Amino acid sequence: MSKTNPMCKTTLYNHFISVFNLILLLGASALIMSCGATNKSLTRSEQCTLNRYEYASIHMGSRCSIVLYAPTENQAAEAVNKAFVRIAQVEQVLSDYRSNSESMLATSQPSGEWVPASPTFIEVLELSKGFFEISEGAFDPTVGVYTHLWRSAKNTNRIPTQDELAIAKYSVGFEHVSVDHQNMRVRFDRPNMILDFGAIGKGYAADCALAVLSDLGYDSAIVDLGGDLAIGRSPPGDAVGWVVTVQPGNSAEWSSQWSSSGIATSGDLERHYVYRGIRYSHILDPRTGLGVTYPRAVTVVAEDAATADALASIVSVVGEGAISLLQSEFSGVQVRVDTGRAFENSHLDSTLP
Ligand code: ADP
Ligand code: MG
Repeated sequence: MSKTNPMCKTTLYNHFISVFNLILLLGASALIMSCGATNKSLTRSEQCTLNRYEYASIHMGSRCSIVLYAPTENQAAEAVNKAFVRIAQVEQVLSDYRSNSESMLATSQPSGEWVPASPTFIEVLELSKGFFEISEGAFDPTVGVYTHLWRSAKNTNRIPTQDELAIAKYSVGFEHVSVDHQNMRVRFDRPNMILDFGAIGKGYAADCALAVLSDLGYDSAIVDLGGDLAIGRSPPGDAVGWVVTVQPGNSAEWSSQWSSSGIATSGDLERHYVYRGIRYSHILDPRTGLGVTYPRAVTVVAEDAATADALASIVSVVGEGAISLLQSEFSGVQVRVDTGRAFENSHLDSTLP
């Protein structure tokens, strides 16, 4: 399966807080860096005076911060604006919070009919299909009909009933989605399907933003979209990479250095719902429509952020047993699972947003 996002070259979401806080601790705060940069699009003298710039904006219901090295503030701001525009475009394709997103409009068409689709929509569906197949259905964006049931049930302090889940089940299953890449169209074979790209959308969008920066010549950059990170070339003059600190909920934080990769987290520390003493994660088991109840916090490092995002969700559903298969299928994947035993002693009634 494709492990990269080729269309991101120039080319969601949840409204909760990420389970982990990924903190970028950039080793050097000095503005003027050495001539170690290898940015092809910049002149030699520009490379000698690369400065560090940082920007933040809200996208996909999350804080998105971008750090990049560029010769001037104007150049940095112009590039980052383009990256943010690209993220907004991706959100408009994938969001299940917007009734007019491409995804929501497509699934509102009569089932069984082909619907024209944009390159971004096609690509995310194809990536999702790969993750659906490799995880034997544990990763499945068609859980949207379940997640929308949960959202409305939580608003009335309950959980979905067995009857509601049984009816919804008919509209769940990525096997009912067909993607026709050649003719740029998609088909949904069950009525009332809803796509929820919450488990891949932010990672994918972060990759797209990083690709925009790279295409403009800014290779030393990092995009953090709600805790899902697309990491570019190392900061100039730094051979090892960007220092990223992961703080997995109640467990001790840990740090390492990475470049040219993606990091994502999944878990239920902050995004869960406690009902009658049972703690349900926002990550659902597609077979039952119920939130996963085993507390775990998963961090994945992969070659891009979309892959890391999807794999972290898969391990959240399946557990540590999935790790060796994922590592054999995807090169360079590292997985860390924190089981957060402190969770078991918490007495939260509800963490409704
Ligand atoms: P986070 O939002 O903490 O980064 P994830 O990347 O794991 O966590 O995404 C979880 C979101 O993905 C859920 O809030 C929901 O929108 C969606 N989702 C839930 N269960 C699944 C699943 N089994 N497969 C695909 N998407 C899911
Ligand atoms: Mg995910």
